[in-house]
Amino acid sequence: VVPTLEDASVLLRLLPRSATGQAITNYVSLHTGPKRLEESDGPQQFHIVLVDNGRSKLLAGEMREMLRCIRCGACMNHCPVYQAVGGHAYGWVYPGPMGNILTPSYVGLENAVALPNAATMCNQCGVVCPVKIPLPDLMRTLREEQMARGLKPWAERMGLALWGWAAQQPALYALGTRIAARVMKWMGGSEKLIHRLPFVSGWTDGRDFPAPAGKTFRELYKAQRK
Ligand code: SF4
Repeated sequence: VVPTLEDASVLLRLLPRSATGQAITNYVSLHTGPKRLEESDGPQQFHIVLVDNGRSKLLAGEMREMLRCIRCGACMNHCPVYQAVGGHAYGWVYPGPMGNILTPSYVGLENAVALPNAATMCNQCGVVCPVKIPLPDLMRTLREEQMARGLKPWAERMGLALWGWAAQQPALYALGTRIAARVMKWMGGSEKLIHRLPFVSGWTDGRDFPAPAGKTFRELYKAQRK
C-alpha cells in the first residue's frame, strides 16, 4: 500500500525493469472508485478487501524490511543457489532469497529450517534488490535464531562446532583440508564425479558431486605466486 498515485507510478516502473527488463507490465489495472453523479456508467459501489496474511506480524518483528518487497524476482535471478536448484526446491510459493526469508516468516522457522541456509552469502541479492532490502543480513538473523532455538539437527550443530574449532587451528586446518581434497579427488576417479558422499546423501541421492582438483586453495595460490 502506497500513499499516492505518484508513489505507485515509481513502483510500477521499478517492478518490470527489475523483473524482466521491460519498460512496463501489462498487468496493471487502475480503479478509481464508484461512479460519480455526473458519470453515466461505472460501479455503484466499490469495496477494497485488504488481506493481512501475516503481514502485521512481520511488521512487528526483525524481518519487517521484507514488507518492502515488490516480488520483482531480481534477487532470485541473481542467486547462484537458485540457478543451481531451481524454484521447486524451495517448497513453497516464493523461491530464491526472498523465499528464504518470507517462507519461514509466514509458515514458521521450524517448518522451513533449510531455507535461510540456501544461500552462499555472496550478497548478489542485496546488491540488485531495487528496494534495498538487506537480504543476507536477514538470512543471517534467521540462521542465528535457528541455532539459538536448537532447530538444526544435532549432527549438523556438532559438525559446525568442530569446523569452527578446527578453523582456529591453522596448521591442523591446512592438514585436514589437504587430506580431504586428495581423498575426494581419489573418490571422483577418472569420471571426476562423486556418486555418493557420506553425511551429504541429500545431495548425492539426486545428483553427482563434482570431485575437487585435489589441491587446496592455499596450495594453488602458493603455486601461482612462485
Ligand atoms: S527481495 Fe528485493 S529483489 Fe527480491 S523480489 Fe523482493 S524486491 Fe525484488
